[in-house]
Formats: sequence, C-alpha cells, structure tokens
Amino acid sequence: MPYDEALERFEPVLGLETHVELGTHSKMFCACPTTFGAPPNTQVCPVCLALPGALPTANAAAIESTIRIGLALNCSIAEWCRFARKNYFYPDMPKNYQISQYDEPLCFDGYLDVEVDGRTVRIEIERVHLEEDTGKSTHVGGATGRIHGADYSIVDYNRAGIPLVEIVTKPIPGTDRLAPEVARAYATELREVMRALGVSDVRMEEGSMRCDVNVSLMPRGATEWGTRTETKNVNSLRSVERSVRGEISRQAAILAEGGTITQETRHFHEDTGTTTSGRSKEEAQDYRYFPEPDLVPIAPDPAWVAELKAALPELPRVRRLRLQQEWGVSDLDMESMHNIDAIDLVEATVAAGAPPADARKWWMGELARRANEAGVPLVELAITPDQIARVCAMVAGGALNDKLARQVLEGVLNGEGTPDEVVAARGLQIVNDEGELSAIIDQVLADNAAAAEKVRGGKIAAVGALVGGVMKASRGKADAARARELLLEKLGVSE
Ligand SMILES: [Zn+2]
Repeated sequence: MPYDEALERFEPVLGLETHVELGTHSKMFCACPTTFGAPPNTQVCPVCLALPGALPTANAAAIESTIRIGLALNCSIAEWCRFARKNYFYPDMPKNYQISQYDEPLCFDGYLDVEVDGRTVRIEIERVHLEEDTGKSTHVGGATGRIHGADYSIVDYNRAGIPLVEIVTKPIPGTDRLAPEVARAYATELREVMRALGVSDVRMEEGSMRCDVNVSLMPRGATEWGTRTETKNVNSLRSVERSVRGEISRQAAILAEGGTITQETRHFHEDTGTTTSGRSKEEAQDYRYFPEPDLVPIAPDPAWVAELKAALPELPRVRRLRLQQEWGVSDLDMESMHNIDAIDLVEATVAAGAPPADARKWWMGELARRANEAGVPLVELAITPDQIARVCAMVAGGALNDKLARQVLEGVLNGEGTPDEVVAARGLQIVNDEGELSAIIDQVLADNAAAAEKVRGGKIAAVGALVGGVMKASRGKADAARARELLLEKLGVSE
C-alpha cells in the first residue's frame, strides 16, 4: 500500500533496539584484543572460545563506558545488578549461551531528545545493558550470502566476546507520518552521543552500531497497539528510515485486507527497500534466563558514578544549541545542516576565520550540491574547512566574486591545488585594474553599437546586455557593478 494511504488509515508505533560495540582494547570477559579486520580466529582464547573450565572476568572499562552512556541518555544507574545467561543455540556463539543482562540492567529509565521537522521529540529509553557480541558466520557458495543455498559455512570468533551495549527505547507512539524520520533522527543522535563520549567508533558499515527496528500499526482512533515486527541489524541511517517506511506499507496492506501481522524478525534488503520474513520471534521465557553464576554482581559506587557524570563531555544537542546561538541561524537551518553532517565542517570553517553565514552558504549550497551529485557524504569532498575559509577571505577582500569562487572550489575539488594555486593557474582574479576594465568596455561598446545607442537614447535597461558583454569578454572576472557604472559614465547617461 502506498505510504500516504497507509498513514491515512493507520498509526504507527515505533521501537528501536540499538547495539553498539564498545571500543575497548580487550574483550568483555577476557584479555583478547578487539582489533577490527584481524585474520580470522587470531584474537581468541579459552575464555571467549568457551573451553571447559575457563572463567570470565568483567571488563572494568566496558562497565565504565556503559554507565557513561546511561548518564548521557539521562538514565538512572543501578546500584546493584547482575549479568544473566541468555540460553540459545547459535553456531557463531561458542558458549551456546550469551552473557547478557535481563531484569537487572545497568542503566534504566532515560530519554534522548531529537529534532525532527522543527520540533523536539523525546524518545524514552527503557534500558541500557551490557552483553557480549557473537562471532561471525560466512556462508560460502550461495547466491545471496545467506545460509540457504550455501555449500558450507565458516566461522570467525574474533568478534565473539567483544563488549556490546544494547540500548532499548520504550514504545514510541505519536510520530505519525514522521515515523521514518524520527527513527533516523534517533539513530543519528545516538551515534553522535557515542562519538562525543568516545566509547565506540559507531561505524554502521562495519557493524559496530546496528539497529533493530520495531514497527506496529493500529487503525486510526484505536487505543490498543498492533502486533509488531522487528527488522534486524539495519546497518545504515538511511536504511533505518527506509525500513520503517517499507514496513508501514507492508503491514498496512495486510491489515487492510483483514489479515494479521505475525510477530517475527525480518531482514531488510537495501536493493528494494523492503523486508522479508526471518524467524518467529522468541519470547523472553524461551531464553531461560538465569543469573550468571561465574561473575560477581556489579555495584558501582555512587560517588564514582557522580564523578563520571560530572566529567561527561558537552553532548551533541547541547553543542548544537550553543552553535545555533553563536551563528544566529533558525531551527530549520540548523536541522538541515545536521541532516547532512555539515555542522562540524561549518564549525571548523568558522574556526579557520570565515564568517558563519559565509561558511554555511558554501557548505550548504555549492558543496552540498557537488557532494550530492557525486553521491558522497559532504565530509568526503576533497576540500578542507581551511580552504573554504581562504575562499571566503578572498571574496571578502574583493579578489573573487561568488561566480569566480565557485570556479576556485571546482578547481580544488578537481585536485588542482590550494585555492591560491587554482586562482593563479586559472587566472581567476577579479579585474580590479580600471585601465584593463576600461579597455574591455570600449571594445564591448564598439561591438554593440545598437545597444549603446539605445542606452544613450534613455533606455537604461538596455545596459544589462552591455554588462553581460563585459562579463563575457572578461570571462566572468570583471566586477559587474563597477562595469555598469563605467558603461553609463562612458555613454554619458546618469540614473
Ligand atoms: Zn578471549
């Protein structure tokens, strides 16, 4: 069903579970290193391979990072809690249970505010808990990379036991047709909070942050929420948004025909923007949770938690509000900068000496357009904030106009060198030399006698064509306003 029609008939309720791999040097319950991309099965030991008799020890740095995440998300921190065994069979999980947390999460009852479409949406956080990651299976020989149709599977346990924080929202009703955007804004904000805390590299493409997206629909006016599905391991911000949109359309089509939604996990497909059925969703009792007997409880000293709280860095939203005030821009301008990750770039450009309005104009205009054309994030353009600041200075000093500045940016992006080198190599200086400009004007007047006659006869509007001629003859390097003045002067006309 088309998205708009689905939204006319149904209201969505969202929920997000996000896994973040912590960037600790060692694993959660052993001393193995955690370097990404190491040769398979080279970062393993008896503990993370679950050899008989091996005993886990909790990673203090991971506990500290989790508490800091909880504090940044406005959570309460448990004064006493335990790890729990979550029992299930999975070939890339050597223990055949996962050490996780169940009814005693380390952090609980928080929130994260996000901006969507000019308004603030508060996302309530149910819990933040600590667990260990699984290994990674690779299915070889099939067309899809999934286990179905594969000839054989291989498993790499390097990732098994890397500390993983799971952040679970409460159900999010009331987002209405902005549900996809809210889901994306939440994932974006969460990623920025993690970056600000320095607890994870949050690279979604490498799987160090991944989202499970829950969606359910209820008929408009209903009070009881519908059955939800959980789309697993969505690994880009754009996919988070698309998966919500696709799932709303899919569920609406089923419900509209009188069907029912199966509670299940689903897989998102990047190529089509749709989801397909995974497995039917287990209930908590299927996991036979019990307190982990091999680990002592966690009881963080409240004084230490207070210290961690006092030492939190400036959080992304607070920083954005500060920058918005400093730069004097509107909520929507700020949001659009945020949406294309331009804030850091604008800030660095301002720090390099550019006025905020100019820095924003170039990044959000010409450069955003070029990034979009090239299909790359703004930050990957081959130009630096310092270089933009230099171009701004040249425009402010009168050496360039905006048109020439665009050519300078193009040159820098093409790898022709620094802005100064491009100006020199392409000869892009504005013609400030009155003698040179005067000569160009004389030539243009000679070549356009009819237009010149019209202006002399009082039709001042016709001077536009002559200014155009001067700009063309100077290849855009003349100062158009000065050229106009000189033209009128030479034609003996005053306005
Ligand atoms: Zn190990």
